[in-house]
Amino acid sequence: MNPQAEASSFLEELGIEELPIVPVEICRKLGIHYSEDHLSGFDGVLILYPPTGHGLICVNNRITEQGRKNFTIAHELGHYCMDSLEKTEFYCSSEVIESFQSAINPIELRANEFAAELLMPRNIYQPLVNKRDPGWDTIKELAVLSQTSLTATAIRFIDLSDYACCLIVSRARKILWFHKSEDFRPYVQMDSRLVSRDTLAFNIYQGCVPADNFEEVKACKWISGKGVQPHTEILEWSLPLNSYGQVLTLLYDEEGIAGWDEEDDYDEVAEVEWEPPTFHKSKRKA
Ligand SMILES: [Zn+2]
Repeated sequence: MNPQAEASSFLEELGIEELPIVPVEICRKLGIHYSEDHLSGFDGVLILYPPTGHGLICVNNRITEQGRKNFTIAHELGHYCMDSLEKTEFYCSSEVIESFQSAINPIELRANEFAAELLMPRNIYQPLVNKRDPGWDTIKELAVLSQTSLTATAIRFIDLSDYACCLIVSRARKILWFHKSEDFRPYVQMDSRLVSRDTLAFNIYQGCVPADNFEEVKACKWISGKGVQPHTEILEWSLPLNSYGQVLTLLYDEEGIAGWDEEDDYDEVAEVEWEPPTFHKSKRKA
């Protein structure tokens, strides 16, 4: 079963059908002790006592945002549901929780996917997303309904929405990771991994207060693709630095900018690798 299916059957078993889903309540129902404590190097810990079926979830008391706490508990509940046969102790760092970088441990990625579905179930969230336009105003409104962080809510919005959107998370001007919708076709510039000048995110790192709406910026400052010409523009909305020192940037490709087609890449590779065999034959003859 995939993590989304695991989470939705878990909710069904618990008989939970309404937002906000309160993970501490779930812990109580399952007999899992919940506490907040000083944790060094970790944001969330799950310890299970297999003979009793009980366990303990502890969340770092330095996390101030309730949405982030909820996601951390839900992440640990993901380990509880999916990974408890292999391990009984889980120590999860702030870098992996709420991160959708493909480079992180697959078990951690799966626990994040479980947490997203648990707190923002598709059957409840999809109709809410369908009725709304992209933007941080929408994401903030949804985050209040589901009691989730802006990062987690933005990812959920992107995954469920038909709009071509991309979330880019950066810190100290460095792009950490990005997450885009299926319909967002261009590539995000990750080669230099630094936020370019002439973007709203760059201005925030320079100390500017960002506007609270989308603004047009040169598309080539963020993305590349067939349709990205020097004059092509894209909508950017970046938020002020959050408590993790990150800038969250939302790109909205309203015009449907073309990316690089997979077929183009294939032709290019095929051309480079293909060599006629005559050279080897003639060498052998000589
Ligand atoms: Zn974990």
